Amino acid sequence: SSQRRNGDDVSPSELSPGILDLHSFDTELLSEIPVPGLYDSAANFEFARGRSFDDSEPSFNGTKQMGKTRAVPDNNSLLNKEKPGSVAKIKVVVRKRPLNKKEVLRKEEDIITIEPNYSHLTVHETKLKVDLTEYLEKHEFVFDAVLDEDVSNDEVYRETVEPIVPAIFQRTKATCFAYGQTGNGKTYTMQPLPLKASNDILRLMHHAYWNQGYQLFVSFFEIYGGKLYDLLSDRRKLCMREDGKQQVCIVGLQEFRVSNVDTIRELIEIGNATRSTGTTGANEESSRSHAILQLVIKRSVDGSETKPARVIGKLSFIDLAGSERGADTTDNDKQTRIEGAEINKSLLALKECIRALDNDQVHIPFRGSKLTEVLRDSFIGNSRTVMISCISPNSGSCEHTLNTLRYADRVKSLSKGNNPKK
Ligand code: ADP
Ligand code: MG
Repeated sequence: SSQRRNGDDVSPSELSPGILDLHSFDTELLSEIPVPGLYDSAANFEFARGRSFDDSEPSFNGTKQMGKTRAVPDNNSLLNKEKPGSVAKIKVVVRKRPLNKKEVLRKEEDIITIEPNYSHLTVHETKLKVDLTEYLEKHEFVFDAVLDEDVSNDEVYRETVEPIVPAIFQRTKATCFAYGQTGNGKTYTMQPLPLKASNDILRLMHHAYWNQGYQLFVSFFEIYGGKLYDLLSDRRKLCMREDGKQQVCIVGLQEFRVSNVDTIRELIEIGNATRSTGTTGANEESSRSHAILQLVIKRSVDGSETKPARVIGKLSFIDLAGSERGADTTDNDKQTRIEGAEINKSLLALKECIRALDNDQVHIPFRGSKLTEVLRDSFIGNSRTVMISCISPNSGSCEHTLNTLRYADRVKSLSKGNNPKK
């Protein structure tokens, strides 16, 4: 098996027996964990049928949509998808946002259709023949899940992060990425996820794992132009080191121990407010940085509060730089060019690392970029990766959309049933 022991991890015998099997997490266990409400999806399921903009952008119904149909899932369908033993190491999900006001005013069409089984997506690209008549070219894709513009953030959480939360109590490092062009909903998608996850983690700690020495820590930093900045410490510059056991260590990174959701919410708000915004407008600058929020579960071996706790598992949320920024390599401004090159490098390295991970490759090419170096320990051992690719529906973004879907497709291409061992 690909499991590798890290110096920081506890051995299976140090964990309390009987609650969760250490090596094979499956959702059947959910019914055995006495956590009222946590996985009670029938009770908690919130399925937004309307388009739920929570900002100033109004919703639209008058836009032409091509053959759009969608089945209403039964309350348990998302959980039931995860059959015991089938929790994949890598999951690639696509989320389409609604058309925004500007796009509607420009009379742009929605060129993305999504099949009712959630996994198929078609891009309808308008092309010109040599005689300048238009024709449609269809590009079809299949992913682990495809979420349309009616899907709420709660449902995104259920589809992506919720199923892996219990695994991080079992020595798993899980990472959730949001990928896509600026303005496609990466931040909108990512922001609520850590809060929902920590809510579930704390519930597990306070119920199933009550009094067993588990502790939850939060850190939040960003990578901008290949450098690290602490978002919970006034953007203090940080540096990264590898210790003798080849564990990555970010020197000086503030880690906050948290025991309630309100504190986590505050920390997340502080971090978001601290992200690089520059003078040209928030989206402009933050689109050139990767924001990394990590939830780390530690445990003091004998359950005591005084001895240093060891890392058990980690859940990282990464709001990646805008994928279009990787193309800024011909910009006139030198700084922009350097940043563009670094972003390009990191997104390529990320793809290669995820592919290598899925392939159970011994060599993980994480040295390709700062981003993948920082995530190094998440690419070895028990690891889970969720990639959420965010796309816009409008015809004007067709080329970017196809690029994003092709990237996601490359990440996914090895992950379908090629690992019978797993
Ligand atoms: P990004 O982080 O990829 O640059 P944002 O998350 O900032 O994009 O989203 C751009 C705008 O679109 C924001 O105003 C956001 O609220 C809105 N938006 C994005 N995705 C959705 C969605 N699924 N539903 C409603 N509004 C969305
Ligand atoms: Mg953003």
